[in-house]
Amino acid sequence: MKDTPSRRPLSKRTRAVHAGTRRSQYGELSEAMFLTQGFVYPDSATAERRFLKSGDDEFIYARYGNPTVAMFEDRIAALEGTEDAFATASGMAAVNGALCAMLSSGDHVVAGRALFGSCLYILQDVLPRWGVEVTLVDGTDLDAWRQAIRPDTKAVFFESVSNPALEVIDIAGVADIAHTVGATVVIDNVFSTPVFSRAVELGADVVIYSTTKHVDGQGRCLGGVICGSRDFVRGTVEPYLKHTGGALSPFNAWVMLKGLEHMDLRVRAQAETALRIAQALRGHPKLARVIHPHLPDHPQHAVAVSQMEQGGTILSIDIADGKEAAFRFLDALEIFLISNNLGDAKSIATHPATTTHQRLPDETKAMLGITPGLVRLSCGLEDPDDLLDDLTRALDHA
Ligand SMILES: *Cc1c(COP(=O)(O)O)cnc(C)c1O
Repeated sequence: MKDTPSRRPLSKRTRAVHAGTRRSQYGELSEAMFLTQGFVYPDSATAERRFLKSGDDEFIYARYGNPTVAMFEDRIAALEGTEDAFATASGMAAVNGALCAMLSSGDHVVAGRALFGSCLYILQDVLPRWGVEVTLVDGTDLDAWRQAIRPDTKAVFFESVSNPALEVIDIAGVADIAHTVGATVVIDNVFSTPVFSRAVELGADVVIYSTTKHVDGQGRCLGGVICGSRDFVRGTVEPYLKHTGGALSPFNAWVMLKGLEHMDLRVRAQAETALRIAQALRGHPKLARVIHPHLPDHPQHAVAVSQMEQGGTILSIDIADGKEAAFRFLDALEIFLISNNLGDAKSIATHPATTTHQRLPDETKAMLGITPGLVRLSCGLEDPDDLLDDLTRALDHA
């Protein structure tokens, strides 16, 4: 479904249901799952031509492209407002693919230091081994970005809202600084979600999602996506990824496509629940802090409100008495599950210091606000009153 001059531009909600749909000769209503790795050519000359240059709806091999995967790519690009997108096997395949496809030995990268553990591994361990110099900065401090960026800076990379301390980075501020030296702005935008993302209009060049999170939204499949200009996606990313094997499975692409259809409704409901819980728990005697980007006492509240319509589906709470108390709280929960996905229909509680961020040195944990009492809460689709009851009852045990 395309925009036409005779109609007002389609909203994200409409695009999420229709964009990118391709129908076979059967005219199926629901997107077909093309669970095939290969494609048959009518004759050898066609095969030769497709290997030389395949057209828009011509496929060769599922590592290069597949009709179900292409529907998902077109739909999420239409949502994010980019010309194109490349789907990957996981969020990490997307982060690794985007960075490795564009960087060469001798390049310089500046990254916000509050990063998902595996992103930190790529930036701190992998890229430097290959001669890419990486400078980590406090992403919330625009002066730190200004000082770190150099004429040879090829890319900047950050999470727009960090995990698990929910620092919010000023996308437009960082993009303006990066663009003065022509650096590509690459954003890991998972916590903002495609529903609330305004990353492209604020200056992002490349927007990455782990679609394992809110896009699937029901904890079933791994997936990822790199959204950007056609030049970047087809000219830089595709040649790298199609030869290195990070392709998304057509089955997972189908699950993600169907997830996109109701993502807007899910994520808005989950975000309302997260804010409501954050407001209700604020000032609770067992808690040292309640962190949510749209609470007025959040350190980047103004940026969060200006760049995200709602504050996201996650809040973090800091249990004042530390790890033992946090464990007692977690173990007393009955609806929130102890796990580490987020953006799921099921509410999930995570203790970052002992799980997702266990391996970070203590000083780094302290610097990133990952205290022994910190618990990340991903709000699901359950009744918000039930969730609040669950949390307040479990806090009695903390
Ligand atoms: C989950 C996550 C990733 C990694 O995604 P996978 O699909 O697990 O590979 C990267 N960045 C952020 C912010 C995430 O939350």
